[in-house]
Amino acid sequence: MKVLKFGGTSVGTADRIKHVARLIQSDSQNIVVLSAMAGTTNTLVEIADYLSKGNTPGAQETLNHLNLKYNNVIDELFDTPGAHSRAKAVIDERFSYIRALVRGEYSLAVNKEILAQGELMSTAMMDIYLNEQGVKSVLLPALDYMRTDANGEPDMKYVSTRLKRLLDLNRDAEVFITQGYICLNAVGEVDNLKRGGSDYSASIIGAVVDADEIEIWTDIDGMHNNDPRYVDNTSPVGELNFEEAAELAYFGAKILHPNCVLPAKLANIPVRLLNTLDPKARGTVIYNMPPDGKIKAVAAKDNVTAIKIKSGRMLLAYGFLHKVFETFEKHQTSIDMMATSEVGVTVTIDDESHLAALVDDLKNFGTVTVDRDMVIVCVVGDLEWHNCGFEAQAVAALKDIPVRMISYGGSNYNISMVIRSGDKIEALKRLSSALF
Ligand code: ASP
Ligand code: MG
Repeated sequence: MKVLKFGGTSVGTADRIKHVARLIQSDSQNIVVLSAMAGTTNTLVEIADYLSKGNTPGAQETLNHLNLKYNNVIDELFDTPGAHSRAKAVIDERFSYIRALVRGEYSLAVNKEILAQGELMSTAMMDIYLNEQGVKSVLLPALDYMRTDANGEPDMKYVSTRLKRLLDLNRDAEVFITQGYICLNAVGEVDNLKRGGSDYSASIIGAVVDADEIEIWTDIDGMHNNDPRYVDNTSPVGELNFEEAAELAYFGAKILHPNCVLPAKLANIPVRLLNTLDPKARGTVIYNMPPDGKIKAVAAKDNVTAIKIKSGRMLLAYGFLHKVFETFEKHQTSIDMMATSEVGVTVTIDDESHLAALVDDLKNFGTVTVDRDMVIVCVVGDLEWHNCGFEAQAVAALKDIPVRMISYGGSNYNISMVIRSGDKIEALKRLSSALF
């Protein structure tokens, strides 16, 4: 059994829904997790927002607009009057439900109810469409099995028991369709796994059913080894381990959020990133792969600020770094990268919202220098320290580019260098030619 998750753009139009319905044809009994159609969750957020501001007409107008869009999709999607009217009935019911909520008072619970409707609609349409095509699909209502505990974490035991029971009750299904993103919370209210949470749903479901694989279908063909916007001839990365994927996630690489893949990682289930628009492309597979001594990818992170705190008092003294870190904590600023010497430390941040106050406080401990408009370029791969030469190659590739700081050895998977933002594209190109 596999778990296949399709994102909002993959089911964003009637044609795309038909395309996905073809893609999921399989001899094995798979579970298909769907997001809401592209744009729907954003629109639902907008509706909830109007309601929270007491602007009922705003909410109603936006809702009517969305309703029209769904009516059009239904008209395009279904050929037979039976399927058409069944889908129309389900969608009408969803919209009546939202309309009733919009007439009432706003609350957080109402907000979550509104946000849950997108996935309920996309899955209902897919299920009815598959049935119309003669496929025996079964809808698994996520609200019947997906639940978070009092800490907001997935309640794996509960999910496992409930989901397995549902699967057992439907042994003759050819395919299961279920909602990503939505769940019940610890007190039994409708809730969600946060924006983009369908990937998380797929990972949780995959772990619980011990899937052979979790496939995440989007509109890009896996992850590239450098940024195709700046570097020519990048190629897709065939395989990564979970740690490498986590390093790359920080750099905004088109990869899954580390939290999302945690259940899959713990259950040791491979996660494959595939492209709905190019289903034959091999994509990227993330799994507990053994170290292979290879560099996988280069990535960059923009809008980084480097802060240096230098103090004669740091020499042979203890407690200096503690005070520095405490100051960052006090100003709710997270540190991303760090390099230290005996007399000073430089750290990077990517959120400048508390910079002035932070710097002001840091001046209590030493001389502070701030370099703004910097970029972190990083090299990710199997960089365990016994693998000789990779750091030398990376540094040599940037030999004509001023490097503000270097960090290596924090994990086995990453070398990071901070440079001026104006040097980024050149640095990415040089790293690609030196390393791939
Ligand atoms: N529909 C939800 C969102 O747009 C969940 C998802 O797409 O993963 O955030
Ligand atoms: Mg989405």
